[in-house]
Amino acid sequence: MGFDPSAFQGVILTCDLLMFSDLRSLSRDVHDCRRCPLGFSRTHAVPGVGPGDARIMIVGEAPGQNEDLQGEPFVGAAGKLLDQLLRGIGLSRGDVFITNILKCRPPGNRDPQPAEAEACSPYLEQQLRLIKPEVVLVLGRHALARLLPGYESISRLHGKVVSKDGVTYIPVYHPAAALYNSFLMGPLEQDFKAVKAHLDRAEERRQALAVAATPVPKPEEQLTLFG
Ligand code: URA
Repeated sequence: MGFDPSAFQGVILTCDLLMFSDLRSLSRDVHDCRRCPLGFSRTHAVPGVGPGDARIMIVGEAPGQNEDLQGEPFVGAAGKLLDQLLRGIGLSRGDVFITNILKCRPPGNRDPQPAEAEACSPYLEQQLRLIKPEVVLVLGRHALARLLPGYESISRLHGKVVSKDGVTYIPVYHPAAALYNSFLMGPLEQDFKAVKAHLDRAEERRQALAVAATPVPKPEEQLTLFG
């Protein structure tokens, strides 16, 4: 099937109006998506996986070859490292929702192009709206540029907590970058420790609020406890 660039422009506009009532219908739409040329070259679309009520959402760059073949994000070498980093902070894949900026593989694993990221962005926006994660882990510079445009570079922002439009983000180095540059492995592990510290603090706050909201029994109620 040929690709008509003029149609692509039109779809970018209508795409902004996409609304889904649940992740399943969003996923179905991604599998049928032809909003950019990648929809014609992919083997499988990769909408994302994980529980719909995940506390943590992880956003990477784009599916690679393994992900394109299997239809699942982070199933290759970077995915194995991601699993290991999650285990290191007491989490597993089943605890998090994992997706990417692009839901289809760019040929030859090239960088995402701005028009592709734009065409795909309503899916990510809707995933954020439906899941309402407590924290979004932003993996690497491409996801950072998309989710926090105008902010500092990944080398300055990694491991820091950023709040924007009611969403909490923690940018971290991309696991694939640490596989290529072993000097990034230590900083990446530290980034995940920062994520754990943030989640622990959030949990402590939640528990303190729950205690504060528990009604204290009135003196007469206390008396009846002892007869
Ligand atoms: N890298 C990504 O950014 N996403 C994947 O799904 C796999 C590798």
